[in-house]
Amino acid sequence: MSARLTRRRVLAALAALPAWPALAQLPTNPDVVIVGAGMAGLAAAKWLIGKEASVVLLEARKRTGGRVLTDTHAFGIPVDLGAAWLHSADANPVTPLVRALGFRTVPDDEDPRLYLDGKEASEPQYQGFFDAYERLVNAVDEAADEEDDMAVTRAAPPKTHSDRLAHARFGALEAGMETGRLSVKDVAVQQRTGVEWMLPDGFGTFVNAYAKGLPVKLDARVERVRLTREGVIVDSTAGTIAAKAVIVTVSAALLAEGAIQFDPPLPDWKRESFERLPMGLVDKIALQFKDNAFGDLEFTTCYVKNGSGPVLASLVRPFGDELAVCFVGGTLARDLEKAGDAAAIDLALNNLRSVFGHAIRKEFKKGVFTRWGSDPFAKGSYAFAQVGHHDKRALLAKPVGRLFFAGEACASEWPTHVAGAFLSGVEAAKAAIKEIR
Ligand SMILES: Cc1cc2nc3c(=O)[nH]c(=O)nc-3n(C[C@H](O)[C@H](O)[C@H](O)COP(=O)(O)OP(=O)(O)OC[C@H]3O[C@@H](n4cnc5c(N)ncnc54)[C@H](O)[C@@H]3O)c2cc1C
Repeated sequence: MSARLTRRRVLAALAALPAWPALAQLPTNPDVVIVGAGMAGLAAAKWLIGKEASVVLLEARKRTGGRVLTDTHAFGIPVDLGAAWLHSADANPVTPLVRALGFRTVPDDEDPRLYLDGKEASEPQYQGFFDAYERLVNAVDEAADEEDDMAVTRAAPPKTHSDRLAHARFGALEAGMETGRLSVKDVAVQQRTGVEWMLPDGFGTFVNAYAKGLPVKLDARVERVRLTREGVIVDSTAGTIAAKAVIVTVSAALLAEGAIQFDPPLPDWKRESFERLPMGLVDKIALQFKDNAFGDLEFTTCYVKNGSGPVLASLVRPFGDELAVCFVGGTLARDLEKAGDAAAIDLALNNLRSVFGHAIRKEFKKGVFTRWGSDPFAKGSYAFAQVGHHDKRALLAKPVGRLFFAGEACASEWPTHVAGAFLSGVEAAKAAIKEIR
């Protein structure tokens, strides 16, 4: 076994342990209660503790990290089932944290491979695909400067086969929603420096390391937040806690569903903000193989489309492991969540078999389908703004008295990304401390 693999397996075993020993004593009347221990909540907690405020994080799951999750059990090696990339890593505010904790990064900025009807794309087909994607991004940027917002499909109508591939990549596979429903003003703010990094030991392993030592109460689902004259009272399945302020970081879908009851009820402008930020859906189908299933292909991303079937993006041999992590998004992902794990795994295997032949079936060992849309504590992958409602992220971030909001959906910079969650957590923490001191 190589030294690299040994380290990864050790980290995998460590990640399987609780991130910290059970805290005997959490502050009883903290300055701030934070609802959710994903990146936004953790960042808010770190910032507040740095300013000597007392905090308690209440987390519904039995783990920290939220939508950043490294699974170590299914395959015996770390596999990211949620966030995996440090997008635009050279500008990403999370990169310095990853560095500070000593996590290794691997660049992933090679052009992807493209396979059409079982064959690798020809030179003109490759060119057509890359040009169409660039045209689409440029058209979105230009349209975002216009006064009125519009759907991505209006800014860049898909006319050719290459355009349709580019739209599938930009929409369903990246934003989790087809481009006809994406707002150009919302998607244009995304950073695109082209520098993409991954963490071989797992993005989720990093977030758990970042969370270490923070006062988190796991298995504590918040049911009600009451605003009082003195501050807030937060009722959870683990008990009731009073504080001077509360920061809520749950996904926009959970707010829209009324998963947390607010007393007094939230004002109309706040409700409209999360109702106009529905969740996109990207799911992963991670497949493990016994032996060589991909010939001499090394760690790369492949876009594969056959006939009128959907285009799937697959990360093949990530970090040299005999895996493929296939991405599905938008309507297809929603349909697959209804159809079940076996249907999703079958679809991914068939898609890859068209390129890699029977070895895909013969060497197949095990598959995992993520189902972020059915996850009761996420209900989707990340939020997108409806056309004409790109301003709703800033409204969602706006406090209501001593009730503060954070999370990727609130982020006007780096929305949908871990970086946006991080920045929004810090912003909410700054606003909260100003209010309570
Ligand atoms: C498949 C997938 C791939 C992705 N890929 C990338 C990527 O490559 N790069 C990137 O930057 N981003 C990526 N993202 C997005 C990224 O994961 C999110 O933007 C980010 O993790 C959101 O963090 P958050 O703190 O806002 O929300 P969350 O991580 O959802 O944190 C909120 C927390 O609140 C908890 N909670 C919910 N309800 C309650 C309740 N009632 N009481 C208490 N706690 C509650 C949840 O369990 C959760 O832990 C991906 C997401 C998915 C799903």
